Parts: sequence; C-alpha cells; structure tokens
Amino acid sequence: MSEPLHAYAWQMPQWQDLQRLISAERLPHALLLSGPSAIGKLRFAHALVAYLLCESPSALAACGQCRSCHFQSDGAHPDCREICPEEGKRQIGIDQVRSLQQFSAQHAHRSGGKKLVLIHPAEAMNVHTANALLKTLEEPASGTLLILVSHSSSQLLPTIRSRCLQMSFGVPKNEFTEPWLRDYVGDQETAQRLLAEAGGRPLAARQVFEEDGLATRERFDKGLLALVDGQRSPLQFAEELLDADILQVLDWWVARLLSLSRYQLADQALTVSSWQRFKSLPAVAVIAGLERALKLRGSFNRGVALNKRLILESLFLEWTQLCQNRAVR
Ligand SMILES: [Zn+2]
Repeated sequence: MSEPLHAYAWQMPQWQDLQRLISAERLPHALLLSGPSAIGKLRFAHALVAYLLCESPSALAACGQCRSCHFQSDGAHPDCREICPEEGKRQIGIDQVRSLQQFSAQHAHRSGGKKLVLIHPAEAMNVHTANALLKTLEEPASGTLLILVSHSSSQLLPTIRSRCLQMSFGVPKNEFTEPWLRDYVGDQETAQRLLAEAGGRPLAARQVFEEDGLATRERFDKGLLALVDGQRSPLQFAEELLDADILQVLDWWVARLLSLSRYQLADQALTVSSWQRFKSLPAVAVIAGLERALKLRGSFNRGVALNKRLILESLFLEWTQLCQNRAVR
C-alpha cells in the first residue's frame, strides 16, 4: 500500500481553491504553479496529479490504494507524463516535449478520465521548446490538463503564461512550517534556526539540516570574523573555503547579505547576531554584493565553469575593503 500523497499543510488555501474549481467543473486546461523554490510546489503538483487520477479520492488527497494510485506511485500511469530536464542537463529537450504529441492524441485509459502533463521547472524550456509545447497542447480535443511548475514565472513566454491559470505560492509562515520541520529534525530551536537560515523556505531548511549546514555556516561566519579582525587575509579565507561546496558557500553568502539588507532597510532581525558589526556598511553596497552573489550562484547552478578560487578571493577582498572604508572592527 502506498502512502496517500498530500499537499503540505501550508498549502491548504491553494488546495481548497482547486477543490472549488474541480467541484464546479471549472478546472482550466493549464495551471501554472509559481513561487520561490524549495517551498513544496512540486509536491503539491504530484498530490494534485494523484488526486485527479485516483478512482476514489477523499477531499484532501488521493486514496493511495486504488489501481490508479498504484500506477501513479510506480511512476507509470498511462494517463500521466512528467517532463523535467534529463539527468546532467539544465534544459528540457525539444524532443521530450514533441513526444507529448502522441500522448495528447490518444484517449485517456479511464473513460471520462483526464490526461495530465506535469512540466518542471517550466523555465527550463527555451523559446523553441515552449512553442513546441503550445503547438502540441493547443489542439482542442486533447482533454489534457497541463501543470507547469515555475520558480521564476517572469522568465516564461507571455503566450505560455496567458494560457494558464496562475496559482501563486509565497514563502509560507513559520507557524505552519515550524511544526513540520520540528518533527523532522527533533527540536524546536534547531527548526527555527534552520528556517531563519533558509529565508523561511521549508525544503531549503531541511536541506541545510541534511547537509549539516548549521555547523558549516557557523564555520564560515567564524572565518569571516577572523578576516575582518585581520587574523586572516582574503586569500587565506578563500583557500579555507575551497574544500567546501561552492554552492553551499554562495548560499550562505546570499543568505547573510539578504538578512543584512533586510535588517538595514526593513528593520528585520538578523539571522546571526555576529553580523551586527556590519550594520553601518552602506546599504547600496550590500545590495550590489547580494546581486553579484545571486548571479554567481545562478551561473554555478547552470553549470557554468568558473574559477572558484578567483571568485572567492575577489568576494572577500571586496568585503574587506568595504569594511576598512567604514572602519568596521
Ligand atoms: Zn486512489
């Protein structure tokens, strides 16, 4: 027996919106689930697919027991196609999308049933692939529900966006995510620290936990203080961080700069108190640093080959100079 797949507790408002559309038989042909990454949109999409294919769903989820649910949990439901970049690739291939043509032409296996296509992340389609998708799915008789998941929906073609009913998912409130994370990590204080580190995104927080990220980030923070105190040079600090995963380093750096700029501009609490000493740095410079770090993280994420050592050296040289100009000690 497979476990019925639920949407997360913090997604109940969106789930209920969909329930209303389904019971009024007003479900559109295409849905776009958009919002920041690592908040559970893909899980929501999977729960919805299972729910729509299930032979006897409850109000909250698929039953997890019927034939359809078994197909679904084996990833082999004949009325469902899931498309994402193939292993080792960043983009969805045009052939992957063209393969939908046949799927779209055939009847659903269950009479009166829906066919479902799930594509994630939708921004991994280039213009040609997105156009091929439109062509494939625009035939009126296809009876197919298209579900797109996007972490950055502004990057999608307007023709794709306008074809979809957009459902937005924001960063959920801690009151909903904290109990979930506490059950996973074992205690409340750790759950709170992890959520703070991850900017409130629950799945990112869980990942920090799984990578033993709190200890790693403490090490990075200590190193940075030693740098500002003149006990280490930027080159030494960069050298120290070379053995770490560059994405982990950039995640930490992005999270800290984001927290500092929110502290400076919106008076929000700092994630770690040791960053108090940077409060007098010019906000404009902090934001410029943040933009640069985001860009670098994006490049590394896309697999662009960059020189880690040079990048870390220049980040920390710049930071040291900034601190010296403002006499941060
Ligand atoms: Zn079922």
